[in-house]
Amino acid sequence: MENNYDVLIVGAGPAGVCAAKTAALNGAKTIILEKQPTIMASKPCGEATSQQTLKTAGVADKPSIVMHRTDAMVFSPNLKSIHIKEIGFSLNKTMFIQEIAAAAAEAGAQIRVREEVQGISRASDGTMNIKTSQNEYRAKVVIGADGYNSTMARNLGVSEKSEPIPTVQYIMVNCHLEYPNTVRFYLGNEIAPMGYAWIFPKGEKLTEVGIGVRGGSAKQYLDKFVGMFPKELAKGQIIDYRGAPVPVGGIIENNIQDGAMLIGDAAGMVIPLTGAGIHSSVAAGLMAGEVAAAAVSEGNCSKKRLEEFNRKYDEQWGQRIKKSLKAMRAIEQLSDNELNLLQQVLAADDILDLANGFEIRKVAKKLLAHPALAVKLAKSLV
Ligand SMILES: Cc1cc2nc3c(=O)[nH]c(=O)nc-3n(C[C@H](O)[C@H](O)[C@H](O)COP(=O)(O)OP(=O)(O)OC[C@H]3O[C@@H](n4cnc5c(N)ncnc54)[C@H](O)[C@@H]3O)c2cc1C
Repeated sequence: MENNYDVLIVGAGPAGVCAAKTAALNGAKTIILEKQPTIMASKPCGEATSQQTLKTAGVADKPSIVMHRTDAMVFSPNLKSIHIKEIGFSLNKTMFIQEIAAAAAEAGAQIRVREEVQGISRASDGTMNIKTSQNEYRAKVVIGADGYNSTMARNLGVSEKSEPIPTVQYIMVNCHLEYPNTVRFYLGNEIAPMGYAWIFPKGEKLTEVGIGVRGGSAKQYLDKFVGMFPKELAKGQIIDYRGAPVPVGGIIENNIQDGAMLIGDAAGMVIPLTGAGIHSSVAAGLMAGEVAAAAVSEGNCSKKRLEEFNRKYDEQWGQRIKKSLKAMRAIEQLSDNELNLLQQVLAADDILDLANGFEIRKVAKKLLAHPALAVKLAKSLV
């Protein structure tokens, strides 16, 4: 009985801790298992997000969580830029996740670290058996929030994966940034083919410099990119060098089964064009925990019942992810000259619409006036 739960969550990243919070708040006996020794942002991440992310997560924007408030600049290959004045947050993601984990614990969720989920199977009564490095559990619903290359997906026989883009990121010290309060994004086939490079200031001392590319070595492109900024980065020293894939190919088809849900990176819930997944994972976690708890209280944890999650998520996020994927597919076909032209034509609001998958039809209409962009970009967007 001790190891019997209503809802068991695999992985305590942004998606998992949010699912634990709402599952417990909605009355489910909940446990979250994390393989790392600490609840923390163990994977490399730019940790940049919108102000709205904290609102969605119910986390206050206090200094221990928000390290830096920044605006943004997007650079085309000719190094001309569009300035986005909207202020975003550079998070201390570990503190952010821990704050939500605390809320989950206060709501009654059990949290266990250093406990890796190794096997999941369905028992004859329909409940789920979960085998970890230390224990065995039973749960009515298992939520897989264990990131890209999910163990839970493998155990459930889900072979589909959202297309990944490889990324590498350095955290550097002793940099002398020209724009110390601005996150910068650089596009171009020479700089970052089918992806982008970034420079994010973080607090007073740290700078994150990273890249996502397809069709080449991310590390080689990143070193070349660092070399483009002799004044700013030449004296910089790397104190953290890690890489990880970001699933940018959209949400997988089979993320819900009887008694099981896959959410966050494990299911490709990332905004494709930007690779941003914190907000979309937080939202997925909150919704998944709520739906799982409701299903348990109704005594119906079937796939059909749990699919309420997909319907709710699709309204707010699935559509955005689809639109952003469309924009990504179209933009990755553009030559550097066409990207330069795009920079001349688009305003800051258009960039936000495209990147986030908001009003892409509006942007497409604007592009129709420019023959090169009309054919290659506008038509694909509509
Ligand atoms: C280099 C890089 C930069 C990024 N920059 C940004 C950015 O600036 N802004 C943004 O919004 N997004 C960014 N992202 C994306 C963002 O990091 C992810 O989309 C987000 O963290 C996904 O959250 P998640 O909870 O789904 O998964 P994850 O954050 O991957 O968390 C999964 C958790 O599950 C645990 N786990 C895995 N397997 C098991 C197991 N078998 N048993 C128990 N626990 C397990 C892991 O240890 C981890 O804690 C970036 C990603 C990368 C790689």
